[in-house]
Amino acid sequence: MSDKGKFVISLDFELLWGMRDKVSKEDYGENIIAVRDILPRMLDLFTEYDVKATFATVGFLFASNKQELLEYCPESKPNYKDDNLSPYNGHFNLIKESEVEDKYHYAADLIELLKEYPEQEIGSHTFSHYYCNSEGQSIDEFASDMEAAVKIANAKNIDLKSLIFPRNMVNDDYLKVCESNGINSFRGNEHVWFHKDEKTSRIKTLAKRGFRLLNAYINVAGHHCYRTEDIAKKKPYDIPASRFLRPYSKRLKILEGIRRKRILKSMTFAARNGEVYHLWWHPHNFGQNQEENFMFLNDILKHYKKLNKTFGFTSITMKDLATQMDNSYA
Ligand SMILES: [Zn+2]
Repeated sequence: MSDKGKFVISLDFELLWGMRDKVSKEDYGENIIAVRDILPRMLDLFTEYDVKATFATVGFLFASNKQELLEYCPESKPNYKDDNLSPYNGHFNLIKESEVEDKYHYAADLIELLKEYPEQEIGSHTFSHYYCNSEGQSIDEFASDMEAAVKIANAKNIDLKSLIFPRNMVNDDYLKVCESNGINSFRGNEHVWFHKDEKTSRIKTLAKRGFRLLNAYINVAGHHCYRTEDIAKKKPYDIPASRFLRPYSKRLKILEGIRRKRILKSMTFAARNGEVYHLWWHPHNFGQNQEENFMFLNDILKHYKKLNKTFGFTSITMKDLATQMDNSYA
């Protein structure tokens, strides 16, 4: 494969299914509804700059009504020790009958819109926003969940090839289940201690959060770029995240320039050295301060275009990167 650097973008597309155990519709609903404007706007911007992204979508969102959703729900459901983690424990009573009445839980029309952009990839974020490292659930329950995700996607003529683990709970033992469901690549965590998904003390959790925040602004842990030959050794391929695109913060406004520089510099590093830079976020992260967030994204994409001209830095979906690795290293 070409030795040019690669620019990967992945988006966790989940609407309220990814947030329901943490926030209420009343508190966060506005951000979720905003995705109806954000997604088309993002697609336009990606098209303008010839940028491709992987939209890892929660399987529930493929349904356009409750009946369809229930049809695809697996019999074997996750038995999380913490009841609140499972959407099957009462949350279905809170959702309305169809997408027309309920824009928080269905997205069949947005998926149809995504399909109008064949250069973009629709990937998986599991069927139910499944937590692979939570206590109580099992590999068999995960398998049922993934099968349901594949089934509902297939019904919409979508072939799922890439997976983003919800809450970035990568479980190595579950990768064989992913592979047997046609998944060719997943997004692993950044390779530094403060991004590792592990059970840990409260102090360490706070320390990790602090370092992650600091690292968004200054170069604490390097550029988080990597060479394709280093990730091509094991399947499904781990295409680790380089950086979470933090939403614009009014409170930290003064540091926005530093945050931007940090990302652009890492992109340049990847482009110069023929490495991969993988940026990710959720569409609903743009829900507040939309203009500022889009301006920021525009700067990133503009920089990409420059690197593309100068170094042949190439925007690519996870699926296409995995296929290139198949063809080059297999
Ligand atoms: Zn998620």
